Amino acid sequence: MSHQPTTLITGGAGFLGSHLCDRFIDEGHRVIAIDNFITGNPDNIAHLFGNKNFKFIKHDVTEFIYVEGDVDHILHFASPASPIDYLNLPIQTLKVGSLGTHKALGLAKAKNARFLLASTSEVYGDPLEHPQKETYWGNVNPIGFRGVYDEAKRFAEAITMAYQRYHHLETRIVRIFNTYGPRMRLNDGRALPAFVDAAINGRPMTVFGDGSQTRSFCYVSDLVEGIYRLLLSEETEPVNIGNPSEITILEFANEVKSIVQNLTGKDAEITFKELPADDPKVRQPNIAKAKEKLGWEPKINREEGLKKTIDFFYNSK
Ligand code: NAD
Ligand code: UDP
Repeated sequence: MSHQPTTLITGGAGFLGSHLCDRFIDEGHRVIAIDNFITGNPDNIAHLFGNKNFKFIKHDVTEFIYVEGDVDHILHFASPASPIDYLNLPIQTLKVGSLGTHKALGLAKAKNARFLLASTSEVYGDPLEHPQKETYWGNVNPIGFRGVYDEAKRFAEAITMAYQRYHHLETRIVRIFNTYGPRMRLNDGRALPAFVDAAINGRPMTVFGDGSQTRSFCYVSDLVEGIYRLLLSEETEPVNIGNPSEITILEFANEVKSIVQNLTGKDAEITFKELPADDPKVRQPNIAKAKEKLGWEPKINREEGLKKTIDFFYNSK
């Protein structure tokens, strides 16, 4: 490679950020990860310490970000991401989506770097259009408890588009749908880690509501491939990346239960608890745009992805 690109990843010690660090290191980039560990974990990137192409900066990105030297790409992934985290950290979530995105964009402008924003299917809220296309504007309750995350991400998209239009910054926006895999925090309260943690430890799995709400779960390596392609593409408007295979949460709990049972012999009970406020009733990405513009579609089906993820958690117990 004549010029070794430098890629900076905010939230680099988190679940997705750490997998992105791995991917860009594998592609031969120099990677700078920035994180304040508010929901991330140094263990996620411990294997990269000592790699000459990897640098870690402990910093809160809502404060001015100083980085020496050239930067070619900035991937802005810093933000609490699970409903429990943003319920516990509402102000930090709003600040990192607004002030943090502003600082990361400012750095991209100063370095003339291409900027990629980690947005979310939550910008569609409790959707009235199903499946969700990028043209859908969403149905979000701005004052509900999820509003701190949804509105922060909607603001982040707006300021990213403003930097593109007014400062002519090269920007990309990925709308990520529920993604799972190794390195999720077992206690982050999201469905997959919560179900796996309960099942492998012989505790009841708790399904919220009657479990008829749907989600569409994407394995992390598929997501990373989609993000990599989007960054290098010429697509400047938001692109959904997710796996369109939709499932009810009750069916999903039963899939986890049966894989764990095969692995451990333990048969987890399923119990029910009240549905949290504003919990979206359905969610499924329309990925026609990603297919057309990026030549991307997911490769790992749920059975394979769940087996890999559950093995990871079982073996790191
Ligand atoms: P995560 O909590 O594992 O990672 C987020 C990381 O950001 C953590 O390491 C955390 O410490 C760091 N961080 C938060 N605020 C910070 C700040 N002010 N300064 C520096 N670092 C900070 O969550 P994740 O699942 O890896 O999500 C990463 C990104 O992807 C988030 O922006 C999230 O909104 C987005 N996303 C994730 C999903 C998913 O299914 N995992 C879906 C949609 C969007
Ligand atoms: N959920 C559940 N039990 C849990 C955690 C989550 O039934 O222990 C439900 C939750 O109410 C939601 C779905 O699973 O309907 C996905 O939740 P998650 O927090 O993983 O993601 P999000 O709601 O942000 O899509």
